[in-house]
Amino acid sequence: MPETNIVWFRQDLRLADNPALTAALANKGRILPVYILDDGQAWPVGGAGRWWLHHSLAALAAGLARLRAPLILRRGDPARILPALAAELGAAAIHAGIAHEPAWRRADAAVAAALPQATALRLHRTATLIDPDKIRSQTNTVYGMYTPFARAVEALGKPDDPLPAPDTISSAKSDSDRLEDWRLLPTHPDWAGGLRDLWVPGEPAALERLKHFVTQAVTRYSTGRNLPGEDGTSMLSPHLHWGEISPRTVWHASRTETDTPDHHTYRRELIWRDFSAYLLWHHPSLPETPLRPAFAKLAFRTHPDDLACWQHGRTGVPIVDAGMRQLWRTGWMHNRVRMIAASFLVKHLLISWKAGEAWFWDTLVDADLASNAASWQWIAGTGIDSQPFFRVFNPVTQGQKFDGDGAYVRRFVPELAALPDRYLHAPWTAPQQELARAGITLGKTYPKPVIDLVAGRNRALDAYRRTVKDQAT
Ligand SMILES: Cc1cc2nc3c(=O)[nH]c(=O)nc-3n(C[C@H](O)[C@H](O)[C@H](O)COP(=O)(O)OP(=O)(O)OC[C@H]3O[C@@H](n4cnc5c(N)ncnc54)[C@H](O)[C@@H]3O)c2cc1C
Repeated sequence: MPETNIVWFRQDLRLADNPALTAALANKGRILPVYILDDGQAWPVGGAGRWWLHHSLAALAAGLARLRAPLILRRGDPARILPALAAELGAAAIHAGIAHEPAWRRADAAVAAALPQATALRLHRTATLIDPDKIRSQTNTVYGMYTPFARAVEALGKPDDPLPAPDTISSAKSDSDRLEDWRLLPTHPDWAGGLRDLWVPGEPAALERLKHFVTQAVTRYSTGRNLPGEDGTSMLSPHLHWGEISPRTVWHASRTETDTPDHHTYRRELIWRDFSAYLLWHHPSLPETPLRPAFAKLAFRTHPDDLACWQHGRTGVPIVDAGMRQLWRTGWMHNRVRMIAASFLVKHLLISWKAGEAWFWDTLVDADLASNAASWQWIAGTGIDSQPFFRVFNPVTQGQKFDGDGAYVRRFVPELAALPDRYLHAPWTAPQQELARAGITLGKTYPKPVIDLVAGRNRALDAYRRTVKDQAT
């Protein structure tokens, strides 16, 4: 008799190129597709992520329904739910994607220990290009630097071809929660209007976005990726995080007969994503602890008012405010501006990277434990492969360089729109009559800078230097 297998969907909410699903279907038996919401986990999904998850699950359920299979929804501890389901169905195996997050790894161990003897837990690589245990330096150590890691990944050659989506499924049945009852969507207030305007979660939309990017923007990616006012990046990060599209599908789509350096640069960004997952795999404390232990003692300030200014885009520094408002409105922020805004928090305001990491976790639709933590540590200079701590992004010159015509700042900080380009990124330097002509009163219609940029920079450098010196003595 053909077996029954459970497919435990986690961060691989797709039908195409899903090795867990393909393996479960391999013996032509019945499958039960299951998603479990576990709010008791460390780093439970944040607010924007819950909005995305609701729609992504609805899209996955619709895709499965077309193949006459239900998506079973359960809420609670997987180590309690899955063994019970396996016993109910007499399942031969549970197939799931490998997750790099420590909480999922603990869940895997707990599930495996609690399963009936006849049921196996089988994990498949669904979320990354490479197996983090297979990439090691020539001296057999874990890479700490991105560049040699990327070279080692590239030396493996092209990833395997993506697997097709199944065209038939014979499914088992079980009880399911109703998605609406999970209340993942905001109601009072409904803050998700900007997310709805910009995003369509789900596998079909992910494939559409990929098509748009590889036909429109990839050939100018090297320049376009730094210009937040332009449609220069793929905006695939939430789709990749939730696994609505696989990294190797994206990798193959961005490789053409007429490959240019732009295509290569783009694939290198996918490798950054793998590098973050690799760091988390080998350093599970990455989201909580500086990878350079010396910086655990850095004297960050606790300053709720300054933190709130940053969170709500009221720092008085236009490019930072534009980024933070883009995040609040759309659940996403351009990478260049993420770097500037994050550096401003950690360096100019001298507030811990962990406060920024937590805010991003709650507000990003692509909030990803590995990429978020690795990026914050990179900016803070506390990671292994970080920019040196004395590199402090100057938000004015960064704004002038990458948003020279002010299109981005004007979109998200409209109260500055009438200011001429030359003052836009530093309105406090504008003569009074220019401000008056643009209808701006600093401190009233737009904030004065929350910190003097030179003083903030010097304060950060002092704090970092003190920490390094204390460590040396
Ligand atoms: C402080 C900070 C926090 C961040 N937090 C997250 C996060 O929670 N989730 C997340 O996916 N990315 C995070 N990033 C990385 C990066 O900003 C986003 O991946 C990128 O902006 C997504 O836009 P895109 O899809 O248009 O990227 P593209 O430029 O089109 O790149 C393609 C893909 O490559 C990956 N990628 C690109 N840059 C990076 C990077 N620096 N690190 C890791 N992966 C990368 C993403 O999956 C992205 O979708 C963070 C960066 C910073 C500076």
